[in-house]
Amino acid sequence: MSDQANQGDLEIRPSPLLTVINDLHSKYKSLKEGIVANYIPELAKVNPDLFSISIVTVDGQVYQVGDYQQLFTIQSISKVFAYGLALEDHGRDYVLTRVGVEPTGEAFNSIILDEQSKRPYNPMVNAGAIATTSLIKGAGATERLNRVLEMFRRYIGHDVFVDISVFTSERSTGHRNRAMAHLMLNFGMIDRNIEEALDLYFQQCAVMVNCHDLAVMAATLANRGVNPVTGEQAVNSRYIKDILSVMYTCGMYNFAGEWAYKVGIPAKSGVCGGIMAVVPNQMGIAVFSPPLDIRGNSVRGVKVCEELSQQLGLHLFECVKVENGKWGVGNCEC
Ligand code: GLN
Repeated sequence: MSDQANQGDLEIRPSPLLTVINDLHSKYKSLKEGIVANYIPELAKVNPDLFSISIVTVDGQVYQVGDYQQLFTIQSISKVFAYGLALEDHGRDYVLTRVGVEPTGEAFNSIILDEQSKRPYNPMVNAGAIATTSLIKGAGATERLNRVLEMFRRYIGHDVFVDISVFTSERSTGHRNRAMAHLMLNFGMIDRNIEEALDLYFQQCAVMVNCHDLAVMAATLANRGVNPVTGEQAVNSRYIKDILSVMYTCGMYNFAGEWAYKVGIPAKSGVCGGIMAVVPNQMGIAVFSPPLDIRGNSVRGVKVCEELSQQLGLHLFECVKVENGKWGVGNCEC
């Protein structure tokens, strides 16, 4: 049979997963709620219509739709990875003396520390993230930044760069973050030069990624820390449970409880409009859409993840038929 005849006979159907994300993209493209972050002047310039969804499975399959090649700064989603590096540098016990693991129920930028321990509540809000980043080892500012960039390279599979205009924009206006750093210095929770710690924190937030990159990073966390595309170990697998636990309980700020209830998978959002979600042993999901709700989470991103979780049965505590008609708790086979 000729190639032409072959093609004529074949009915090429998109995969079910691609159909689901294409439909969600069409459904929410016209949703105009939310406003883009403007407290960092450079972020206010982003186009609010940008919208993409990417899924990368733990065996390296990729499904995506929309502006998935559009670069943006990773912002708070970087906190997840910096936490992993701090754990690798110091171990669980020491890191716990500097940053707790309790949800705050407060906004991402709230200036509160635990009354008793004086620790920031968790590594997913700004105060905790600044304390976490101050733990990253290195002989000087350049070496520390290089270690952070090298860490991102392992998770993503290619070199990454800092958006200098976003970095300098945040550095010159980030007085609230600076105030948190001073408060933590006062309580001995940060012991290095705080301007250097803040610079590294602002730089890690200004690392440029696209939606596909975020999904690969999420898939790496879903795959015991091994990047499913390159096969490289990005983070020691012993810390995956620590990282995913704080994402699950604290990753969506003061929406974390409702997220855990409705969506039911570890996730992290950022004021860039990105949301990264991890379905352990299955896939990484990323959504990018800059307009944010009042809690600082992407409006379209939350809607897409809620529906994806429902349609694919991704909630970690979903009851599913496991074998011989018996029921169990866990993810469905998608
Ligand atoms: N760089 C931002 C800040 O520190 C990150 C905040 C966020 O994404 N929620 O304010």
